[in-house]
Amino acid sequence: SVDTALIQSLDSAHFLHPFTDFKDLSSRGARVITRAEGIYVWDSEGHQILDAMSGLWCVNVGYGRKALADAAHAQMMTLPYYNSFFQTTNVPAVQLAARLASLAPAVGDRSFQHVFYSSSGSESNDSNVRMVRRYWDLLGQPRRKVIIGRINGYHGSTMAGASLGGMSGMHAQGDLPIPNITHIEQPYYFENAIPGESREEFGVRAAGWLEAKILEVGPDKVAAFIAEPLQGAGGVIIPPSTYWPEIQRIVDKYGILLISDEVICAFGRLGHWFGYEKFGYKPDLVTFAKAVTSGYVPLGGVMVGNRVAQVLIEQGGEFNHGYTYSGHPVACAVAMANLDIMEAEQLPQKVCGDIGAYFAQRYAELNDHPLVAHAETCGFVGGLVLVKNKKTLERFHADDGVGMVCRGHCFGNGLIMRAVGDRMIIAPPLVMTKTDIDELMRLIHLALDRTLVDLKA
Ligand code: PLP
Repeated sequence: SVDTALIQSLDSAHFLHPFTDFKDLSSRGARVITRAEGIYVWDSEGHQILDAMSGLWCVNVGYGRKALADAAHAQMMTLPYYNSFFQTTNVPAVQLAARLASLAPAVGDRSFQHVFYSSSGSESNDSNVRMVRRYWDLLGQPRRKVIIGRINGYHGSTMAGASLGGMSGMHAQGDLPIPNITHIEQPYYFENAIPGESREEFGVRAAGWLEAKILEVGPDKVAAFIAEPLQGAGGVIIPPSTYWPEIQRIVDKYGILLISDEVICAFGRLGHWFGYEKFGYKPDLVTFAKAVTSGYVPLGGVMVGNRVAQVLIEQGGEFNHGYTYSGHPVACAVAMANLDIMEAEQLPQKVCGDIGAYFAQRYAELNDHPLVAHAETCGFVGGLVLVKNKKTLERFHADDGVGMVCRGHCFGNGLIMRAVGDRMIIAPPLVMTKTDIDELMRLIHLALDRTLVDLKA
């Protein structure tokens, strides 16, 4: 058994947690998560908690999968580590690259036959910046340096990742963004639509912000546009159906590269292997991480589409970039076992089939709750806005901390749901059954009801 008080005191004495106010006393006494199975985690006090966030959007096959532990064990006993620098390679890294290439469907004139490995989403996006710049340099267009991201987009925490993302709190620390990265407004219908505008009209207008930015920067200076298929960490912002086709038209018109950051959206999350399939666009680079191993070990990378790969390969010259753990054999072996499970259990198909439809239908019922506006899902991702007045859609003030109150009630009742300002979001494991979804909804309703009682008090 775990001595909770001891672990908590060592935790606050020694462990600086990510995205945490180190001075804030309430961040001490962290809940100690000790084990997990299926869709549940348990803390050191024995509380069972339904993990509707799949950790950090990553445990797609659920917890406790022995096959993944076995794969790691077997690989560690055979070849625990070797690098992929200097003309060496390893079997799992090669097998996984070939398998990812076969899973990523060609779309239009784009195909994905090559993978560049890292260990995380952030590192992968750093690699994207390096690759995009090299691509344009090799084509003799070194002026094309500017990468356009989106306000409230999230692309990681490294200097380049945080710069590509559009989180103002992150930019405020560390002089970000780094040069040659700029942003456009997000396609958030609830917040950015004008009165009377349909979702579809809004989608086209929001995509138009990209064209306006390209013209402002100068089309000959723009290298790429980076976006998540749907914004995850920004609060589950699901774009209107008209958004991506219009984005595609604009990037094609100006010949700029399209980077699809699928760190959340790949590997079944939206009912397909990759998020670009869901929205039907043609990326040049696809960032992945998280669910490629269901989070059991760190692994990330970039699927490099033919347009970029061809130039990097044919023009030659060393690409001066890579990581000690690029193509880590244990991580790649675990990813192979993880993909085996996803294929055998048909998890992407499940998400775009019956179970996904049931999840969407039950989640939409949240729109009837007096605190909720705009509850919607896409695949196995859900978001909603907590509103002060359901009729007028009056928003809460940031100081009300309504999301944190609701999150507290979730946690108290045995549910992990994430708060992003006044939005509550989930991304449950893809192995949820209908019974699990019913239980999830019961817990969400309970947390919302208790939040409502608190607000009335
Ligand atoms: N890109 C997206 C879309 C993400 O959601 C995340 C993490 O949540 C990242 C990049 C960063 O990934 P990592 O935390 O593995 O560096």
